[in-house]
Amino acid sequence: MTIKRFRQAIGLAAAVAALSALLTAVLFVSVSARGQETEVIFLDIGQGDSVLIKTRYGQNILIDGGRDNRVLDRLGRNLAFFDRTLDMVIATHPDSDHIAGLVPVLERYDVGLVLDPGVVHDSSVFSALQEVITRKQIPVRYIESRQTYELGEGVVLDVLFPDQSFVGRDIEDNNAASIIVKFSDGDIDFILTGDAPQAVEDELAARYGDYLDAEVLKAGHHGSNTSSSDLFLDTVTPEVAVIQVGADNRYGHPNFRVLKRLEARHIPVLRNDELGDIRMVSDGEFVELR
Ligand SMILES: [Zn+2]
Repeated sequence: MTIKRFRQAIGLAAAVAALSALLTAVLFVSVSARGQETEVIFLDIGQGDSVLIKTRYGQNILIDGGRDNRVLDRLGRNLAFFDRTLDMVIATHPDSDHIAGLVPVLERYDVGLVLDPGVVHDSSVFSALQEVITRKQIPVRYIESRQTYELGEGVVLDVLFPDQSFVGRDIEDNNAASIIVKFSDGDIDFILTGDAPQAVEDELAARYGDYLDAEVLKAGHHGSNTSSSDLFLDTVTPEVAVIQVGADNRYGHPNFRVLKRLEARHIPVLRNDELGDIRMVSDGEFVELR
């Protein structure tokens, strides 16, 4: 029997509006117990992706930065004012809704390491990102095969994809080079797939199978129909899905077919356009919204 580890998962979809009000209230009384809890915060940066992980051991990891400066305000709200360190920044792929916000972030924060698929892209934003990395001499690791980062006992960042070298290549579909990670805090697992399309999801499902089982899935590509296939959802079997979308975005994200696939599996959907920042707090055994 699978233990349900997402505390408010039952009835969540129906109670999103009420929950939103509740979250605001709880925020003011909760004091972060650093050292016992890990936070994963899906930042409300409009149409784009940005996820901040604050581990129980004090590391800060930022996965993508959205399409503009908005990420700075969100980081300011979610990190202590004196905390200017990001131990790791992951640029999943060079589309502007993922990396544009990383440019001002790398300017202002002390960044220990950047993970990047190594794809080259002809855009001013891509050039600006390379420029700040070079100027500030920020270490970069290109992901060409699986890399596992042990962040402390029970806390692991497992970088599953790319499993091949895209370094120096200008590819047609940047999404297909998206860095995909499984982040684990004890028994609580998150699968974050950037904008990876179904072909990559299939490859992952075939290779990793049950290892992809996770409590939380960030639905790929902002809930686009190119991702979150039946096979992938049945492999990950998430208790909740997060969709990072901006209100009234011109892409029609999330796609209704994806919402139907989630609904058919009774997987509640949490959306940034409806909830603002989505903060999940894990004690290693259970995870909840806070
Ligand atoms: Zn995107």
